Amino acid sequence: MNTNNILCSKGSSILRSSYTNKGTAFSPEERQKFGLRGLLPPRQETIQDQAERALSQFHSFQTTLEQYVFLNCLRDRNETLFFYLLVNNLELMMPIVYTPTVGEACQKFGNEFRFAQGMYFSTQDRGQIRDILDNWPNPEVDIIVISDGSRILGLGDLGTNGMGIPVGKLQLYVAGAGFNPARTLPVIIDAGVNTKKYLEDKFYLGEKHSRVPDQEYYAIIEEFMVAVYNKWPKVLVQFEDISNDHCFNLLDIYRNRFLCFNDDIQGTGSVILSGFINAVRAVQIPLRDHRLVFFGAGSAGIGVADCIMSLFLEQGLTEEEARKRFWFVDSKGLITTNRGDELAEHKKAYARTDYTTQLKTLLEVVRDVKPTALIGLSGIGRSFTQDIIEEVSSHVEKPIIFSLSNPTSNAECTAEQAYTWSKGRCIFASGSPFAPVELNGVRLVPGQGNNMYIFPGLGLGAVVCHATKVTDSMIIAASKALASCVDDAEVITNKIYPGLSGIRDISIRIAVAVIEKAFEEGVATIARPESIEQLVRQYVYYPNYESLQLPQQH
Ligand code: NAD
Repeated sequence: MNTNNILCSKGSSILRSSYTNKGTAFSPEERQKFGLRGLLPPRQETIQDQAERALSQFHSFQTTLEQYVFLNCLRDRNETLFFYLLVNNLELMMPIVYTPTVGEACQKFGNEFRFAQGMYFSTQDRGQIRDILDNWPNPEVDIIVISDGSRILGLGDLGTNGMGIPVGKLQLYVAGAGFNPARTLPVIIDAGVNTKKYLEDKFYLGEKHSRVPDQEYYAIIEEFMVAVYNKWPKVLVQFEDISNDHCFNLLDIYRNRFLCFNDDIQGTGSVILSGFINAVRAVQIPLRDHRLVFFGAGSAGIGVADCIMSLFLEQGLTEEEARKRFWFVDSKGLITTNRGDELAEHKKAYARTDYTTQLKTLLEVVRDVKPTALIGLSGIGRSFTQDIIEEVSSHVEKPIIFSLSNPTSNAECTAEQAYTWSKGRCIFASGSPFAPVELNGVRLVPGQGNNMYIFPGLGLGAVVCHATKVTDSMIIAASKALASCVDDAEVITNKIYPGLSGIRDISIRIAVAVIEKAFEEGVATIARPESIEQLVRQYVYYPNYESLQLPQQH
C-alpha cells in the first residue's frame, strides 16, 4: 500500500487541513468538485448545526480539562467551526480556553499532548531562528504571543508546558477582536526549566536542563526579535507570563525598537486604570485627592501604578506629587528607601522617602494612610481581612477595593467579604469572577478587571494602523475608551466595567481610540483613512465558511 497516495488523494488534504475543512458543511457541488463524495455522511449541515452538536459534545465531558482537550482537538480538525463556537459562546468557554482551565492544561501539557500548535525555539536553535521561522506554514503573521514559560499564571516555572498560554491568549485575540487565526502565531522560547518535577517527568517535552544564564537568555530573545521583524516587519509581539527578573528588562529593551507590549504589565495596568477611572467617577472624589495603597509590588502592581500615574500627570500633577499618592506594601511591609533591604529595581520608583518608622503590616499602613483605594495584586489569598476593610471603610464613604489576585482562591478577599465588611458601600473589582451579592435586599454586582477587556482592542488598533510601537498614551487611550463603555447612569450604581458579551464592539471602540492616538503621536504608518472605524471593521474576521479560501477548480 502506498501511503503517499492515500494522503494526497483528491480532497483528503482539504478534509485534513483545519484551515480548509468544513466537514459535513461541504455542499454537493463542493463534494463533487473536490473529490469528497463518499468521504462524508450524505446530509449537508450548516455551521450552526455543526456548532449545536459540538456544544452538546462539549457539555458531555465531566471535567473542564476534558472540555479543553476537546476544544483544541476541534480546532485541529476544523478551525472555522472552533472559532464559530468560541465567538458565539465566549463567556461559557473563556474559562476553558484560558484561565483557570488553561493553568491545569499547562501543568499536564506533556501528558495531554496530542499535536503541536505554534512554534518552539530553544537554545539549540541559536543562529538559525530566521531560517526556522520559514517553516511556519502561513505566509503572513500579524500577531505573536510569546512566553518563556517561566511564570505561568500563579503556577510558577512550567517551561515549555507554558505553550497553552500563547495558544489560549491568541484564541482570545481572535474571539475578542477578530484577528484572523491564520495570521496568529503562538511561540515558546525554551530556555530551560527550574522546576524539578518537570526535569524528572518523562512526558515533559522541553529541553531537560535548568534555565540558561542571563547572557544566553537575552541573546536568544534578541535573535528571535530581530528574526521576526525581519520576516514580518509589521507584526505585533505580545510578551506573556515571563518572570519578573526578565519581563521588565525585555519591555525596556524592545518597547521603542519594535511593535510590542507586555500584557501582564501594560494590559493589566490599562484594564485596572479603566476600572479606577470609573471608580473615581462613582465615588466623586477628585482624582488628585486619591490615596492608593497597593498590596503586592510585582509586574502587575507596578504596571497598574504606572498607568494610574500617567492619569495623575495628565491632570497636571508633577511626577513627584503623583508618586506621593502611592504606598506599596510587599512581603516585608511598606516599601521605603530606608527599610534596610536591597529593593528590586522595579520597586524603587515607588519607595517612600518620608517614613522614619517602618510599617510592617498592611493594617498599619491603611491606618496611617487612610487610603481611598486599596488594590491587591499580591497573590496572597484572603489577606484583606475584616479589620483592614473596616479600617479603610471608616475613612471614606465609598472605598475602592480591588482584590485582583488570581485564581479565585488567591483573591485578597471575596466580593461578599468586601461588600459585607464595608456595609455595601465599596466599589469592588476582582481578577477572577465573583457572583453578584445580595446585601440587605440590594443586589451588588462585582466588577471584573479582566485583561480580556483591553488586550484584543489594543492589539487590533496597533496592528491595523501598522504602528511602529505601542506608546504609553495609546495604552491610556485604550483605558479611557473602555471606561467610556459604561455610561453615567451605570457608574452611579457602582458599575465600573461593561458586560463582556459585547467584547467585539468594545474592542473596536478601543482600537479606534488607539489608532487616533497613534496618529496623534506620529507612530501610525498607514495613510489616515476617512473613517478609522470602517478600516478597523474591514480587518475584523468573523468565522464562517464563506470566507474560506478553498483551492481553485482544476
Ligand atoms: P508577582 O510575583 O510579580 O508579584 C507579587 C507581588 O506580591 C510581589 O511584589 C511580592 O513581593 C508580593 N508579595 C508576595 N507575598 C506577599 C506577602 N505575603 N505580603 C505582601 N506582598 C507579598 O506577580 P504578578 O504578576 O504581579 O501578579 C500578582 C497577582 O496579580 C497574581 O495573583 C495575578 O493572578 C494577579 N493578576 C491579576 C490581573 C487582573 O486582575 N487583570 C492581571 C495580572 C495579574
